[in-house]
Amino acid sequence: MTEKQIKEASVLTKAEDTNIRKQFRLLVENSPRLKKKADREMVEKAFNLAFLAHKDMRRRSGEPYICHPLAVARIVSEEIGLGALSISCSLLHDVVEDTDYTLEDIEHLFGEKMARIIDGLTKISGAFSEQSSSQAENFRKILLTLSDDMRVILIKLADRLHNMRTLDAMPTEKQLKIASETIYIYAPLAHRLGLYKIKTELEDLSMKYRHPEIYEEIANKIRLNEKRRIAEINRFSLPIIQKLEENNIRFDINGRPKSIYSIWKKMQTKNVSFEEVYDLIAIRIVFDPKPRVSEKAMCWMIYSLITDIYLPKPDRLRDWVSKPKENGYEALHATVMSHEGKWVEVQIRSRRMDEIAERGYAAHWKYKGINSQESGLDTWLKRIREMLDNPNKNALEFLDDFKLNLFSSEILVFTPKGHIKSLPKNASALDFAYEIHTEIGNHAIGAKVNHKLVPLSYKLSSGDQVEILTSDKQRPQVEWLQFVITAKAKVSIKNALKSEKNNRIKIGKEKLDRTLRALKITPNAYVFRKLMNAYETLTKDELYSKIGLGLIELNNIEAILKKKSQNKLVRYWSLQFLKSINKSSPKKKQEDSGTVGNKKKPILLRENLDKEDSEYVIANCCKPIPGDPVVGYLDNQLDTIIIHKANCPNIIRLASKHGDRIIPVRWTTHKVKSFLSRIKIQGIDRMGILNEITTIISKQLDVNIRSVNVDVLDGIFEATIDLYVHDTIHLNNLILKLAKIKGVDSVNREEYTGE
Ligand code: MN
Repeated sequence: MTEKQIKEASVLTKAEDTNIRKQFRLLVENSPRLKKKADREMVEKAFNLAFLAHKDMRRRSGEPYICHPLAVARIVSEEIGLGALSISCSLLHDVVEDTDYTLEDIEHLFGEKMARIIDGLTKISGAFSEQSSSQAENFRKILLTLSDDMRVILIKLADRLHNMRTLDAMPTEKQLKIASETIYIYAPLAHRLGLYKIKTELEDLSMKYRHPEIYEEIANKIRLNEKRRIAEINRFSLPIIQKLEENNIRFDINGRPKSIYSIWKKMQTKNVSFEEVYDLIAIRIVFDPKPRVSEKAMCWMIYSLITDIYLPKPDRLRDWVSKPKENGYEALHATVMSHEGKWVEVQIRSRRMDEIAERGYAAHWKYKGINSQESGLDTWLKRIREMLDNPNKNALEFLDDFKLNLFSSEILVFTPKGHIKSLPKNASALDFAYEIHTEIGNHAIGAKVNHKLVPLSYKLSSGDQVEILTSDKQRPQVEWLQFVITAKAKVSIKNALKSEKNNRIKIGKEKLDRTLRALKITPNAYVFRKLMNAYETLTKDELYSKIGLGLIELNNIEAILKKKSQNKLVRYWSLQFLKSINKSSPKKKQEDSGTVGNKKKPILLRENLDKEDSEYVIANCCKPIPGDPVVGYLDNQLDTIIIHKANCPNIIRLASKHGDRIIPVRWTTHKVKSFLSRIKIQGIDRMGILNEITTIISKQLDVNIRSVNVDVLDGIFEATIDLYVHDTIHLNNLILKLAKIKGVDSVNREEYTGE
């Protein structure tokens, strides 16, 4: 059940009772298919039972519950064009599920056929109120068991349409769930069935609840531009109207309305503005066939008359008259050049073709007689069955088929509680985290997709169930920007990084200002130069930032300022500088600080907060981290220094050939930068062990996991975890802790040698 009714013992007011009976009268009167007395009697009997069964129930909106089945029955009759059996089933569709009446009662009162349809409708409702992760599988099963009667699906669509029309009464969370289901399952279903009008309405309503701001914005723009558009359509149509009237053709001509959803979809897929979509006009000509002239001949006659006025675009002619679309759509589409120099699509249809296009196959009966009314649907049903019976396809693939091309740019994933979230294709687990909440994104450390641990960069697919693991200590990382694609995630990460940096700088500046004031030192260029040298920073902001982070204690400022610069050992080598040393005489560069020039003195490997201006890169082959004995290799081509472990086979090989490019380096002691490292954990698989491992890694020791790979074979698991650590001490601590977990057999740092 998507709509839950509030049980109330309140008696219907006189006005309510009158209104309900009036609605029922309208249902019967407006249906062209309730001409037979027996049919009218069946519908009346169904109404009486439904009225009685739902007597004490009200909808969430407060109206008597019976109003809902009545409205569904009117949609089934007036908008889909079904007859007495379907109308009766619509009236009774919620009776078995929500009242004391049973399926046996229905069978007893109305016969087996009707009982089967009601049973199908009840089961569909049940399937969708369960855990949503099983929705796809359930949906498949239900279609498999029930699609032998088309009416079940058509009535379900009408039920959904009415629920969408009255969705305002639902709480927001439910609105989103129902609206997402609608766009995921029901709108494509309506499309497949050729119920274009219902499909369009479902799409628009779904969008209204899923993206209310965009919906309003586009609706407003349509209002503002409507007059101009109508004027243009009229200018274009006038010569056509004259010509067709001269030829005694009876017809209607209309500018084809564009739905809000379709405009939005086009704006996204084609990446164009509202105006570019909206300004493209299309018109539709619906004609009454002349006696003894075939519809097909009339279509081409009208085409011929129009192309006498406007020049056609030859490659844009679509003939669905000679060969209708698989869902039954028939029409002739042409594109012609208006006198204003714009391409205009013209759709030419007979009244009958138009009826099918708008209301689907069920509307066929009007023209072909009652018995053959649903014969065209057999093909559709047969294909659905083939798809369902194919054992090579799983339920999700099946749903993907349903989604058609309409949704190729969008994936739908489930939260652990079964709520559906829509994301653009290629979105990562981290995009999902930000989609849920900015704070969840900011503190995400990993994710479980379909209960398996995956890194935040994991690309999601439709149907995935995603759970985000968070840690209070986690902060947004620059690297994250490489694998998020939603604007929301990007903006949030950038903002968080920026505010964190600004905050550090602000705190650091205040702290330094305070300290200097206390020491009665006037901050000037000289003072800063001294401090920046002493604290190994290149810019003022970096200095503030490190102070803000607590990496620099300001307890020795006076000593630093007293020291003569000549005595200082700390110095920085810019790259250009290094290159020139290597290329030319070392003496040449001594003028600056007088301290440079001795190649044997090690370069300090500063740990930059900002990746961009790092002076060195960590070798990929051996991935040293602070604490490891290291050497630098000046790579002229890459224009940078590459840091290898001292015992790396690659650096040994390089040193033997280009000894002059080997540069002594050593780590500074600041713990700022994190280094990528890999550990391997082996042990006995048991429930929850992975969670314990990731908890220890992420929460207890403030380490970020980059990726996790787990293999389990015969109860033995082997996890390879790439993580960021500060140095060897840090990593060793972590390894010790992990080794203590029950079930863990060994924890080793993976050595990168050679490769
Ligand atoms: Mn219902």
